Amino acid sequence: MALLEPDDRGLWCAAGGFHVDPWAPVPRAVLTHGHGDHARPGSGSYLSVIEGAPILRRRLGDDATIQTLAYGERLRIGDTTVSLHPAGHVLGSAQIRIEHAGEIWVVTGDYKRDRDPTCAPFEPVRCDVLVTEATFALPIYRWPDPAQVIDDIVAFWDEARDAGVPALLFCYALGKAQRILAELAARGIDRPVHAHGAMMGITDVYRASPGMAPMLELRSATDAKKKDLEGALVLSPLSARGTSWIRRFSKARSGFASGWMQVRGDRRRRAIARGFVLSDHADWPALLRTIDESGASRVLATHGFADALARYVRETRGIDAGVLATRYEGEAGAEPDEAP
Ligand SMILES: [Zn+2]
Repeated sequence: MALLEPDDRGLWCAAGGFHVDPWAPVPRAVLTHGHGDHARPGSGSYLSVIEGAPILRRRLGDDATIQTLAYGERLRIGDTTVSLHPAGHVLGSAQIRIEHAGEIWVVTGDYKRDRDPTCAPFEPVRCDVLVTEATFALPIYRWPDPAQVIDDIVAFWDEARDAGVPALLFCYALGKAQRILAELAARGIDRPVHAHGAMMGITDVYRASPGMAPMLELRSATDAKKKDLEGALVLSPLSARGTSWIRRFSKARSGFASGWMQVRGDRRRRAIARGFVLSDHADWPALLRTIDESGASRVLATHGFADALARYVRETRGIDAGVLATRYEGEAGAEPDEAP
């Protein structure tokens, strides 16, 4: 029997008696991170890294039982030994390493290999079986240097300032918004940024995390006067489009920071004027590098372009690779975070 197998509620580990990132309530959940498609309320108890607990508390409520581990700390659960390792995706994101009877499985959760000042960098973990995400697992997805993308965002803001209109930048509320605030602060920019209400609370959680990189001040765009928004950078979740909130930005320049912006068709489909290719997921080369560095003899791809990744790995590496059916959604899965 495999160490992890999908059942109707999540990835079930029979030897440990727990589920990984369950999509329905279970007695015991081990979580990779706090995005809505990975952390759902209603389970009996949750295990996460320390850094992720405040995010989970916000999502899962005051009554949730949340146990924490430091990165790399080992915990005996049932007949398994479990440890959590940095995934570089968002604050408190972890890969889950499960050891049982001499066999090691790693579930990456969502991850990226690019630097991000707001979370611990990804650490490769050796294993026998690697369960990897595949959100952007097509050769067309190759991220530009994030420093260049931040330059482009600064230029986008400057152009809007010159024109006296808001620069409305759509981005995910958990992770991407804070990464942008920290990258802008690192550039020596010292102006406040405005945001949709959905961004405010989670950004406070980030700011309160010990050792967090400096981030620009964030002000509510909802409370701002029209004049204050002229030339302002305004962060908003995509889900705000089509709401009355967005009407005040009829004259704004708009852009979207996401891996999906690599493909022009996606920009058109979403009617986005400017695309900034900034993702919190691994691109195609980073997925392959991670598979190689894991030393795994078996790879299971989940969500996104899992078929394409599994086929490519089989054909080019000659190792066992397949698809694990899950209900995670990749970047689209971040959308539920955007509710206030
Ligand atoms: Zn995620």
